Amino acid sequence: MDFEAFFATKLDGLRDEGRYRVFAELERHAGDFPRATRFVGNETRDVTVWCSNDYLGMGQNPKVIAAMHEALDRCGAGAGGTRNISGTNHYHVLLERELADLHGKESALIFTSGYVSNWTSLSTLGANIPGCVILSDEGNHASMIEGIRHSKAEKRIWKHNDVRDLDRLLSEYGPDRPKIVAFESVYSMDGDIAPIREILDVAEKHGAMTYLDEVHAVGLYGPRGGGIAEREGLMDRVTIIEGTLGKAFGVVGGYITGSTALCDFVRSFASGFIFTTALPPHVAAGALTSIRHLKESQIERARHQERVAKVRARLEAIGIPTLPNPSHIVPVMVGDAAKCKWISDLLLDNYGIYVQPINYPTVPRKTERLRITPSPLHTDADIDRLVRALSDLWSQCALARAVA
Ligand SMILES: *Cc1c(COP(=O)(O)O)cnc(C)c1O
Repeated sequence: MDFEAFFATKLDGLRDEGRYRVFAELERHAGDFPRATRFVGNETRDVTVWCSNDYLGMGQNPKVIAAMHEALDRCGAGAGGTRNISGTNHYHVLLERELADLHGKESALIFTSGYVSNWTSLSTLGANIPGCVILSDEGNHASMIEGIRHSKAEKRIWKHNDVRDLDRLLSEYGPDRPKIVAFESVYSMDGDIAPIREILDVAEKHGAMTYLDEVHAVGLYGPRGGGIAEREGLMDRVTIIEGTLGKAFGVVGGYITGSTALCDFVRSFASGFIFTTALPPHVAAGALTSIRHLKESQIERARHQERVAKVRARLEAIGIPTLPNPSHIVPVMVGDAAKCKWISDLLLDNYGIYVQPINYPTVPRKTERLRITPSPLHTDADIDRLVRALSDLWSQCALARAVA
């Protein structure tokens, strides 16, 4: 086989469909979020980032950075091994305790990313619980989908956030059949929020275990940043709460929290936990500091919500269509792949504003969008510039405006 030709043909196919991914090459500025330097060929330009998942700028927080420096100087660069073979650092243990406490659970288990935590936990549970069936919301993230697929357990997909559809599917199985209901709290592309209470009611009625991905909610919602389930007083009813250390907590890593037996089971049977080098200690230290800070401080969460409301209102006032939702994600709907990419390119090149276009297959065709994530550190002047730029481009692109 001519492998090179094969790769080139497949890549051309992506380009023809407008799905080829081009990365913006950036250098973020410590202490100056959301500013970054963009590298284009031999040149550099200053940009303002409007699509970061470091939702609160905690990756630039001085306390977090100081904690990481301190741990780096104490422990060195890497963990030195898997958790089992010399890699369990004191910081990992402290971090797991902090996470268990955050979600009101007995235990927690950390992974190298949120993707790995979903993939590994769901595949381990699905593969090892005899006769297990996994009921997965149709909007679930790729990491859950792939983990479920790898488990080889029976999989049923329920309509997005549709509790009656979930109930109907669960009713097809007898009470003795082990069931896991897997879903998210905040869905990151539409910014909608699952009816967690109703899902739990149905799952409990059928004796199903529940697995909740709070990746886009931890740090951001609830009085201590425990997520939507904390805000709604539901954490104790969810069997497993999964989260990331890489988004609102600003560092990197993933985790699950649950009962001691459950976390110990995953720890003991999960290939994706056992056979990989542990997170560097300074990463664990940074995450620990970030979580502790956001457990106490309401300032970032309050300012975040205020900025989100302001961006929404300003866009609404000039008729730029946003998808209404109850979260912090502001999807500006373009509805055309080529125009979406074009607007994003011009924002970057001519206005120094970085918003990545979101196209198929991440979202359905005709719903192409700019996914804007305001942070507590975006200023009024930043918002003015964003709104003016979008208004210009909307006119240039002859895109329809919503009638207020
Ligand atoms: C980003 C994301 C993940 C993966 O988390 P990482 O820490 O980035 O690997 C998991 N679930 C959802 C819903 C996500 O958006």
